[in-house]
Amino acid sequence: MPPVSWPDNARCAVMLSFDLDAETLMLYRDPANATKPVLLSMARYGPKSAVPEIINLLARFGLKATFFIPGWVIENHPDAVRLIVNSGHEVGAHGYLHERPDTLSRDEEDAILGRSVAIIRDATGRPPAGFRSPAWEFSPNTLHLLERHGFVYSSNMMDSIYPYYHRRPDGTPSLVELPVHWELDDAPFFLYLPGQQRPMAPIEAVFDTWRQEFAAYYRRGGLFVLTLHPQLQRPGRLDMLGRLIQYIREFPGVWFATGEEIAAYFRSTAKD
Ligand SMILES: [Zn+2]
Repeated sequence: MPPVSWPDNARCAVMLSFDLDAETLMLYRDPANATKPVLLSMARYGPKSAVPEIINLLARFGLKATFFIPGWVIENHPDAVRLIVNSGHEVGAHGYLHERPDTLSRDEEDAILGRSVAIIRDATGRPPAGFRSPAWEFSPNTLHLLERHGFVYSSNMMDSIYPYYHRRPDGTPSLVELPVHWELDDAPFFLYLPGQQRPMAPIEAVFDTWRQEFAAYYRRGGLFVLTLHPQLQRPGRLDMLGRLIQYIREFPGVWFATGEEIAAYFRSTAKD
């Protein structure tokens, strides 16, 4: 028996998540990249070209997804963000300029979280429920700060295929965790930077990996969280995502939901 249940007796859950980093990944890594227009254009493909296609694809399947967006991207790509919000997708927090929490002081981390919550509230009319850490790392302060800033869930840990509660030192439940893994992230397969020695993975190999992984999550009643980066969702890869969704939909009893919906359902059913 899986340790969690899903609504309407669904067998497993699927969360489609998109980390809309745009240029922040490059700008934070090395401020000198601000003078490299071609490199930045590669990242800008995400909000400029891929987001409208992703929104169409999701609409075609009638699905809602979760977009984790750095504050800087919300300020600099208002059209893409408006499209995401007006299409009814969830917006979660992802730093201001894609800062790694494990490199920040407590005060810096606190200020960045506050700033990113305020920007999302302005753009969407409500504060974000979910936090995905840039580069998937926490500092010793992250969990406590997330709770202080009103977050409901985190989607960062890699120790389970089921949602679970983070615990405060006294054992009481705090945030819900919606676990992830690099294998279900498109970046290790598709991210290419100039000079990189590692080749990009072929589309079919990734399709096959994700298909097999989904079938195994399904059998175990898990939460299949796909983490995609719009800047990497080039046309052929995006078509593959459509084929993957089609494949998943052939299984009976799959609950597609946003992170916020999954966290809320978990909280309504989990024992403290
Ligand atoms: Zn990111």
